[in-house]
Amino acid sequence: MKLWDLSGHRLRNLLDQGELSAQELVEAFLTRQQNTEPALHAFVTTTGPQALAAAKEIDNARARGEKPGALAGIPMALKDNICTAGIKTTCSSKMLANYVPPYDATVVKSLRQAGSILTGKTNMDEFAMGSSTENSAFYPTRNPWDTSRVPGGSSGGSAAAVAAGQAVFALGSDTGGSIRQPAAFCSIVGFKPSYGRVSRFGLVAFASSLDQIGCFTKDVTDCAAVLNVICGRDEFDPTSVSAPVPDYSKFIGREIKGLRIGLPREFLQEGIQPAVREAILQAAQTFENLGAVVEETSLPKMKYAPAVYYVIAPAEASSNLGRFDGVRYGFRVPTSDLDSLYKKTRSQGFGPEVRRRIMIGTYVLTADNYKNLYQRAQQVRTLIIEEFEQAFSRYDLLLTPTSPAVPFKLGEKMDDPLQMYLMDVCTIPANLAGLPAISIPAGFSAGLPVGMQLMAKPWAEGTLLQAAYSFEQATDYHQRRPAIASGGVVGE
Ligand code: GLN
Repeated sequence: MKLWDLSGHRLRNLLDQGELSAQELVEAFLTRQQNTEPALHAFVTTTGPQALAAAKEIDNARARGEKPGALAGIPMALKDNICTAGIKTTCSSKMLANYVPPYDATVVKSLRQAGSILTGKTNMDEFAMGSSTENSAFYPTRNPWDTSRVPGGSSGGSAAAVAAGQAVFALGSDTGGSIRQPAAFCSIVGFKPSYGRVSRFGLVAFASSLDQIGCFTKDVTDCAAVLNVICGRDEFDPTSVSAPVPDYSKFIGREIKGLRIGLPREFLQEGIQPAVREAILQAAQTFENLGAVVEETSLPKMKYAPAVYYVIAPAEASSNLGRFDGVRYGFRVPTSDLDSLYKKTRSQGFGPEVRRRIMIGTYVLTADNYKNLYQRAQQVRTLIIEEFEQAFSRYDLLLTPTSPAVPFKLGEKMDDPLQMYLMDVCTIPANLAGLPAISIPAGFSAGLPVGMQLMAKPWAEGTLLQAAYSFEQATDYHQRRPAIASGGVVGE
């Protein structure tokens, strides 16, 4: 039996039954990590020795008869923009290449308390800006399904790690699709909670009105288990919400008879690859067979979402990244005067995409442009939110592709930022409106994964899990595993 192939809930059973120790489990995942890393480069930092020590503690606590936490002994990976006390948190940027946070993000604290064990910090597009993980200042991550292709981004390292069995689950951040799109590219489950559902304390900010932490798992049952640990109010994040957190596992296995699902036609038109469209239409059919009522609908304002996002997100980023000035944090180019210290530090410390975003953001916030660009984008954002509100008065869920395309080749879109930006057309709207959304495996096209997205109204995370689980049970996509070829896996 390959332990790294199993979902978290099955591993948990083995641990509970005493058939497996946390140390054996962590060792199996660390071996898998070592064997597959040369082909994938999913991690920036690995934490093997600490993981083994933590596993030993978990085993000892169990032996003493202490009640194990909900994720006791389960190996996890964290995107490298989530702060970990004493462990480097680089945002895959030269700017923070040696930054060691003095504290854990709130989600990390919660996961540690639940007994989960960190096996490493994952690679990402620099400061979470990108859709392929090629914007990492260190190296790109590769897709476990085809190592000549990208794993998606910006949380590509987390997605590749889970898909390849290097961790049972991983956390990522999603500002415009950075959890859902890589989940789709790697054929796993990716969940972006409602804005405010999960604390962002300790997440390095990109665009604060859009950022949300969420998770990658092999299946929907594991997703519910992780959400149970990370959701909830945190006094350190004033945007986190105190609405009670239901037990998400209660939604697993509930019927979906009568559930109303809207299929917005704008998400199936030109620009969407035929194989992706086909998979989504088939998914709609599967939902109908399961008793849901699926209806075609129209959301005409969604076409403005990318334009709105690429004004608001860079504006917020230009402000958030102002703190990396060579004085207070990380990288510094020493010079004789302050002005050139700022300039040299920022031009050498940030990569081209981050500099592009800061320039765009600064531009749209200048006095001359504020009204015409920034303020107008905010107004259109409100129209998009209203269109969603209307849609959710008619439907419980909306079904769309996650990404318009299957994973592309490394290098294919690097010279064309607009093409890269359009990889998020389907995912950006949920961030603009603060909605919860999930991506789950929905098929394959010539061996490459296709993901589908479900969106719901704020706080309806449970309905998403309920529908996603029903779909998962009716299909076998989540059980398929990538054969990590080309120099990857040996001797397992
Ligand atoms: N790809 C989008 C961007 O580059 C979204 C990134 C994200 O969600 N962090 O901004």
